[in-house]
Formats: sequence, C-alpha cells, structure tokens
Amino acid sequence: MKYLSTRGQSPQLGFSDILLGGLMVDGGLSLPVAYPRIGDAELTAMRAMSYAELAFAILSKFATDIPADDLRAICAKTYTAGVYCNGRADSDASQITPLRRLEEGLYLQELSNGPTLAFKDMAMQLLGNLFEYVLARRGEEINILGATSGDTGSAAEYAMRGKRGVRVFMLSPRENMSVFQRAQMYSLQDANIFNIAVRGMFDDAQDIVKAVSNDLEFKTRHRIGAVNSINWGRVAAQVIYYFKGWLAATTTNDQKVSFAVPSGNFGNICAGHIARMMGLPIHKLILATNENDVLDEFFRTGLYRPRKTADVHVTSSPSMDISKASNFERFVFDLVGRDPAVVRDLWRAVDAGGHFDLTATPHWGRLAEFGFVSGSSSHANRLDTIRQIYRASGLMIDPHTADGLKVAYEHRETGIPTIVLETALPAKFEETLVEALGEKPWRPAAMQEIESLPQRVEVMEVSTEAVKAFVVAHTH
Ligand SMILES: *Cc1c(COP(=O)(O)O)cnc(C)c1O
Repeated sequence: MKYLSTRGQSPQLGFSDILLGGLMVDGGLSLPVAYPRIGDAELTAMRAMSYAELAFAILSKFATDIPADDLRAICAKTYTAGVYCNGRADSDASQITPLRRLEEGLYLQELSNGPTLAFKDMAMQLLGNLFEYVLARRGEEINILGATSGDTGSAAEYAMRGKRGVRVFMLSPRENMSVFQRAQMYSLQDANIFNIAVRGMFDDAQDIVKAVSNDLEFKTRHRIGAVNSINWGRVAAQVIYYFKGWLAATTTNDQKVSFAVPSGNFGNICAGHIARMMGLPIHKLILATNENDVLDEFFRTGLYRPRKTADVHVTSSPSMDISKASNFERFVFDLVGRDPAVVRDLWRAVDAGGHFDLTATPHWGRLAEFGFVSGSSSHANRLDTIRQIYRASGLMIDPHTADGLKVAYEHRETGIPTIVLETALPAKFEETLVEALGEKPWRPAAMQEIESLPQRVEVMEVSTEAVKAFVVAHTH
C-alpha cells in the first residue's frame, strides 16, 4: 500500500515512512492511493475475531511494509484487556470497546476505558508500540514535541512512556487544564517523558511547537517529530473500532448502523468515513460539534469558514474547541473526486486565512453519497443531556459524549441502530458533572488519589529559545 498526498505534489510513500512524519512535503495530508475493500466473506469472518485479531485484519491492509507476524504481535500487545480496564464496574474489558445499550436502537460504544480515560488512547497506544518497533528496525530515535490542552498530551505520554528510542516533550498551559488532567500528566516519573508548563495559554504553547518545527535545521538535527491528529497511524487505528461497533450491533451483513461522533479536528469521524469507503455498512455518520461549529456549518451549508483563534469559544467540552479541523482536507479530497488540483485551490484560500464555499460546485451535489449529517450543541444542551441519561439509566457520561448523544437524538432513524462514540469518561470533567448532577462522577480504582501523587514538571516562560535549549539539554 502506497500513500499519496491530498495536494498531489509529493512522492508516494510507504506506511512506515509516513508514520513518523507529519504533513507531506507539499503541505498536504497522506491517504492510501486506494481504499482497501472489505467483502462480504471477510465481514463474516470478522464476527469471530477478538479486537486484536480484527485490528490485525484491518491494519495489515494499510501497513503492508511491516511483516505480518510482527504486526500481529504489535496488535496483540496493544489491544489487551489489561490496558482497557478503567471502565464502569459492569463493563467488559475483554471487548476493548464494549457496546452498551442505552435504549431501543441506541447504543454507547465505550472507547475511553484506556489509561487516560479518553478515546485518544485507542490510537495512541498503537502508535507507541509502532514507533518503538519502526525506530528499532531503523536504528533511529525520535523526540516528540507537542502542545496540549489536556487529552492529547496525556494519551501521548502514557503511550510513549518507557519506549526505547522515544522521548516526549509536552508543552501545556500552566493555568488552563483541570486539576485531574494536570495530575495525570505531571505525575509521570518516566525518564523519557518531559512535561513543560508554559506561563501562557494553549495557543502560546502551540506557537512554540510551530516555531520549532519551522526551524528545519533544528528539527532535522534533533529528530523532532509529532503525534498530532493528522498522523495517519492514528486515523488507521481508529478505523478498527467502527468495524467493532458495527459487528457488535448487527447479526447479518445486510444490516446498517449509524455512528454519532463528537468532533473537533475531524480525526475520529474521518476514520468512520474511511471505514465506510472500505465497504463497512454504515448508514449515516452523524457529526456533532459544540459551540465551535465550523464543521456543522459546512455540512449544513457547504461553507467552510475556519475561525480566528481569538474567536474560539471556551466551552465545557474543551477537547472540541477548535478554530479549524486539521483532518478535514482528507474528506474534502474524496468529496471532490480525489482531484488534488481542486484541493490545492481550496486550501490556497484557507491557508491565506480565508474560506471556501462548495454550494455552487458539482461537488456539493455528491455530499449525500458520503452519508454525513450534522448538528451542534450548547452548554445548556450538554447539561440537559447528561441529566436526562442519568435519570433514565443511572449512567454518567462526559460532556463531549453528551454533545454526540444530543445530535444523535436529532438524526436517529427507526430501524437503524445508532451508536454514539464515548470519547471520554466523566471522571475527566468532574466540574461539569457536578454542575449537571450535583455529584462527582465515579473514578477508576487506580486513579482515586491521583492529585496527591508527586508531580514532575518544568515551568517556563513563553520562549521558543528556552524550549529549544531544554530539548537540547535533555537529548544527550
Ligand atoms: C480529541 C477529542 C474529541 C475530538 O476528536 P477529533 O478526532 O479531534 O474530531 C472529542 N472528544 C474528546 C473527549 C476528545 O479528547
């Protein structure tokens, strides 16, 4: 399997090459030259598979440059019940992403029972094992530099801790994370994990990462890498649980299901789109945003209008607070018939701070073929949905999952099971749960005392030079 760029001006590369990189050299995103198709017989065979076997069946179509036995071992090591054991007391960890029935035709797929209680573990844990494997084979090292407002950084750190050949330098805003999120990251004592708290906001941290990455000489000399949401390995890993959810909700291959996906950077739902393109019988992909409704606006009107950073709403589903959706270009590439010249034109406007409008083009008429519908929700909607589901079933859900459920209610159709993806556990967002329900959410046993563990973090001014100096000092 080779990978092309959505902008059509990069050489085609293999899986292991794009795994460690970010953007393609022409500024585009990587995608398979053609989506592998899964036929009826293969879907039937998948019904008997464990999650790890399913992961291998799917990833072996994407990672063709990794020997089958090695890939099978990586999948077995990654998707094991011991890693996904932080769910509710009645949750079946052996399923890795168990499906929970909420009411007739409506399900929750638990994706957040891993080490950091958010769905990002599903992909990041795989990435940790793949990185270690590929780096060892090549005799290379990597220094991952990232900025986080919470979920991504902790998922990356828990996936990369103790991995040979990998160091993580994670910048976070000193003030703006929840107490729980800070404790989760800063309590890690592994020698290859470095937390840097900057005296500024998330955007300041992000700007430093961009400045370092733009210094090509520094980037090459110090082997700086990234694990942000455009990483193809993350998208590929997320394809697996769409198959798993469909398998769990159906008994025959002619049955379709819909998925409702709390969305920010379009990484999660992009994997759903790819699963559908591979032939998985998905009826609708229901995209849910919070007040930051860039994507909802596009799917309703055809207008893609990234916001200014200063106009991003700070919401109670903070992991969906985005000004633009970094994976969206992958979907648009397919929507415009995989014509890189069209993508280049559209993103010339976006990259210059503008927008594009597809309504007057023939591409917009093809949207229905792709199954997308969308909606958005507000803080009040989120609280209502959390209360409603708690009263009906005693189940506590997190604010992001509540956004997904709210929009699922608007778009569900009778006769077609709808699966809401649970993107975080409520324990991560205690303040909002207390506001909605007047009580604190349950916590996994292993995390009862997390705030009282000793913390290890370097506090720094907002300074690219200071961060560079820190990286240099800690990589020799
Ligand atoms: C990252 C995240 C999202 C958004 O996912 P995207 O792949 O960026 O669309 C939603 N909910 C939670 C809890 C997250 O951590």
